[in-house]
Amino acid sequence: MQGGKSKNLSKYLDSMMGLKKITDLFLDALFPERPFCVLCGARLSKGVHLLCGECRDKLEPVSPPLCMKCGRPLDRENTVCTDCDGKNHYFIEARAFGVYRGVLKEIIHLYKYRRERRLSELIGLKMTETLQRQNWPSFDYLVAVPLHPERERERGFNQSLLLARVISGRTGIPVFRGLLRTRPTEHQSLLEKPQREANVAGAFTVKDGSKIRGKTLLLIDDVYTTGSTAGECSKILLEAGAARVYVLTAARG
Ligand SMILES: [Zn+2]
Ligand SMILES: [Zn+2]
Repeated sequence: MQGGKSKNLSKYLDSMMGLKKITDLFLDALFPERPFCVLCGARLSKGVHLLCGECRDKLEPVSPPLCMKCGRPLDRENTVCTDCDGKNHYFIEARAFGVYRGVLKEIIHLYKYRRERRLSELIGLKMTETLQRQNWPSFDYLVAVPLHPERERERGFNQSLLLARVISGRTGIPVFRGLLRTRPTEHQSLLEKPQREANVAGAFTVKDGSKIRGKTLLLIDDVYTTGSTAGECSKILLEAGAARVYVLTAARG
C-alpha cells in the first residue's frame, strides 16, 4: 500500500517535472529575453531582468565629498575641483549616478555599442534615484544631449534620449526635443581635453526655443568626462532663453 503510494507520488512528481520543463519551454518561446545576466552570464532568477543581483550590487553610486560644481569625487567637503576652480560653467551643477568604471562602464558599453537598449530602464532608474537625492529646484523639461541624425541612424537610437524617457516616465517631467546636433562631431572619447571643446563648439542648435524661455532644464547624457558637451549644450540652451540648466549623467569619468 505504502509502496504504491510512493510510486504514485514519484510518478506525480515526474509528471510535474515534465510539466515544468514544458512550461519553461513555453515561457522561453513566449519571452525570448535572455534568461542570463548580460554581464556575467549567471542564470537570472524569476522576475530579475538583464543583470543578476550580484552584478547589480556592484553598481555603486558616486560617494561624497564631491566637487560642488561638476560632481567629481574629491577628498574634501565644500569645495570645487581644479577643473572648476575659477571656471564659469554654463550649467549650475552636474551630478552623475556613479563613476565610469567597473560594472557601470561595462553596462554603458553594452547599452551604447552592443545596442542592448533594454538597459536604458536600469540605467535610467539609477539616474532617477540620483536626481531624487539632489537638492535641486523642480524642472520644467528634461533635455537629452542629441546625436547627429547620421550617428543616430547608425546606432538605431539615441542613448541619452532613451534615458531621458525613462526618467520622464518616473518623474513626470516632460522631455523637450528641440535641442539638435547640426553637424557630426568626432567621438569625444578619442580626443584630448583641449580638442574636445573645439569639437563640440557650434555643433548644437535649438528649435522651438519659445518653449524653454525662462524655464529650468535638466540636461541628460550618458557620460560626463570633461564637461565639454554638457557645457556647450547648456550654453546653447541659455542663449535660446532657458533660465538655468543642471546636468545629470549616468556616469562621470
Ligand atoms: Zn551578473
Ligand atoms: Zn568640478
